[in-house]
Amino acid sequence: MKRFFAILCIGILILSGCAPVEPAPAPVYDTAPDRVETGITVGGVPLENLYKGAETYYIEAESLLSVLGGTAQADLGIESHTLTVTAENWSRTYISGGETANALYDGTKWYLPYEELLTELGYHLFEDTAQNHRYYTVYPKADGLYGGAEVPILMYHAVSDDLWGISGLFVSPSEMEKQLKYIVDNGYTPIFFEDLANIETIEKPVILTFDDGYDDNYTNLFPLLKRYNVKATVFMITGSIGAEHYLTAEQISEMQASGLVSFQSHTASHPDLGSCTAEELDAEMLQSKSTLAQITGKEPFVLCYPMGKWSDLSLEKTAEYYEYGIFMSGKTYVTGQTDRVKIYRKYVSRTTSLDSFAGMLRVNK
Ligand SMILES: [Zn+2]
Repeated sequence: MKRFFAILCIGILILSGCAPVEPAPAPVYDTAPDRVETGITVGGVPLENLYKGAETYYIEAESLLSVLGGTAQADLGIESHTLTVTAENWSRTYISGGETANALYDGTKWYLPYEELLTELGYHLFEDTAQNHRYYTVYPKADGLYGGAEVPILMYHAVSDDLWGISGLFVSPSEMEKQLKYIVDNGYTPIFFEDLANIETIEKPVILTFDDGYDDNYTNLFPLLKRYNVKATVFMITGSIGAEHYLTAEQISEMQASGLVSFQSHTASHPDLGSCTAEELDAEMLQSKSTLAQITGKEPFVLCYPMGKWSDLSLEKTAEYYEYGIFMSGKTYVTGQTDRVKIYRKYVSRTTSLDSFAGMLRVNK
């Protein structure tokens, strides 16, 4: 009996030795980096959870992919782990562990250093240090544009028959509608400054701009833009947001969310930039940029000069803070041929006839 028991024990030992071995869990090389309070907005989409490692900021792979699109494939090995991220026109492999590590994996989530990637994909960083927020926005650089495209840019202000200010700045809503209809019926393509990136592919482009940011742009113009599916750019005086006769932050958000309106800067307080000091110029250009970025989630990159005035210093500052500077000259903007901080526009007034409007749209004029 004793002997039988010994054999049984040996048998159990042998059996257990032959049982399939559970694979060892892949080792984890990293701990999660610290979450920081700095905000981040990529392509207008605010993302949660920015992390700070020893030298760089990280974002969780899932958050980044929610904006960039694409897929991620993880491979957890013994020596190192990899995550291959693939989207339209780009692919990158991130590694956790080993000497070539360039990302962090804490056993659950991947944390990716996104700055280099976003720069490579053409995103520009505006770091708003006062608000502790980072905005990544895509916009076309002036020196990378296809050259020689003629783009009429039209200048408007208010769209109303309630003439509470200088009447020449008020286009009647009924005339506005005729002009939009003319644009659509005659094959013109209303575009944003953002669309200059593909200007060589656009038939008969035109840019409609509305200065100051009056509230009738919401009540009278916006319904017409939706009816005719026309894009427009509003140059907002950001210090006037919410004041009498001006757009509110809510209206700006709603208009921009429609995809039909782009908000760009017309400074914070509408001063004569030609007589501003360097400090005043810094404040006007930065405050307006920061306010619009907070409301729209995107960095504005076009500045419209109040009353069309400038100095050499203000042009220098414009070139530093913005990609394009706009004024009214009556000429047609030609990509690659016009100084990027002296872009031309044409003035559509209350008394502009449909014939002369049609003439403004014709190029080589
Ligand atoms: Zn103005």
